[in-house]
Amino acid sequence: MNFKDEEATKRTEIISANAQWFENHSPVDPRFKKDEVKGVSAKVITVAQLGGDCYPSTPIGINLPNADWIRKEHGSKSVTMENITYAYTQAALGNGFLEEFCFSDEEIELSKKHGSLAGNLHTDLHECLGHGSGQLLPETSPEALKNYSSALEETRADLFALYFMMDEKMLELNIMLTLDVARTEYNGYIRNGLMTQLTRIELGKNIEQSHMRNRQLIAKWCYEKGQDENVIEVLQRDGKTFCKINDYNKLRGLFGELLIEVQRIKSEGDYEAGKNLVETYGVIVEPDLHAEIMERFKKLNIAPYGGFINPGFKLVEQNGEIIDIQVEYSMDYTDQMLYYSENYSFL
Ligand SMILES: [Zn+2]
Repeated sequence: MNFKDEEATKRTEIISANAQWFENHSPVDPRFKKDEVKGVSAKVITVAQLGGDCYPSTPIGINLPNADWIRKEHGSKSVTMENITYAYTQAALGNGFLEEFCFSDEEIELSKKHGSLAGNLHTDLHECLGHGSGQLLPETSPEALKNYSSALEETRADLFALYFMMDEKMLELNIMLTLDVARTEYNGYIRNGLMTQLTRIELGKNIEQSHMRNRQLIAKWCYEKGQDENVIEVLQRDGKTFCKINDYNKLRGLFGELLIEVQRIKSEGDYEAGKNLVETYGVIVEPDLHAEIMERFKKLNIAPYGGFINPGFKLVEQNGEIIDIQVEYSMDYTDQMLYYSENYSFL
């Protein structure tokens, strides 16, 4: 259950209205681009109630359909759930996470100032443009990448978003007022992909989940390919590991290079190259770093995943007419689950 966020939807409408510009200016091989980007519709919503698979832990954006041929013929639809990301950002302020894992005070400040917009813009670009961009060669089977297709598809969409986030076009379209928003996103993305997302993995395990594979794949690939020029630096301070971006423009260039390759893999259905990329960069966890990150994270006492409790809605009636709806946050999670089970288990 949701209602539309009219103000934030203007942002996604600007992005969708310019979808063809982004497609034309993407760095990928022209053979893999769409001549005509069709019907990208996008809106931003405020979630009022979660249900089914989305309760208590929910996606922050949805893009459908999955089938490439439907996207090509008819277009796609994206939904960004802004109050969910907003809640995550608010909950993360002041819990010590940024202070523990950011390399500098400047990074912390940027994150506090622009983190919310940076995250939402990344989601918009990923959903509205990234997934909808590009095309398969006519002879390529949509199933060609098999078990790696989901991780590679997320990689492609993220790279599209990351690449364009730092483009002057963002300022021109008035979607952001300063490229500091893009820098904030780059900092957070690399920090997460190289280090902090490991807090969600059990010690001794490797990465299984597609989105997490994709994030590590991008961060590690860029770290490795940019090593000669010190684009991303991994360093130690007081026995702790940090990462630091030294050259944002070069990093953007690396995002573009990897996008070219991942789009080629998808368009040609190059299973071996796709497998190689995911297995080399996206799966393996370094045990020492993992243990260190877990140790630091444990001290902060934060849960690695967030969940939501649904508010209750109470109708206010007067003379048989509904005049208001009151929102109540009275239950804790256990109470809510028991309440649902008692009242709705017949569903
Ligand atoms: Zn996605």
